[in-house]
Amino acid sequence: MLICEQKPHCLAQTGRKRSKKMPQVATFHSVNEIQKPANLRVHHNNGACAPGRDIPVWERQPGTGGFRLCDDCWRLNSQGR
Ligand SMILES: [Zn+2]
Repeated sequence: MLICEQKPHCLAQTGRKRSKKMPQVATFHSVNEIQKPANLRVHHNNGACAPGRDIPVWERQPGTGGFRLCDDCWRLNSQGR
């Protein structure tokens, strides 16, 4: 996936999805993420992501927080959902 992200055609696809698909939401992460081990910290950007939806609005912070994208969000995004 890291390799894929560096290929221009993959970047183009990502851009197309981002501009069009509905469930994509503003990138956010939980304020509690910082309390997890560093390798488990994630951010979310898909409104259909279950772990992301579990995060109460008042615990959400805008942006990635410097964390990697959550696996569920990644899968949903790659499926165009
Ligand atoms: Zn997520």
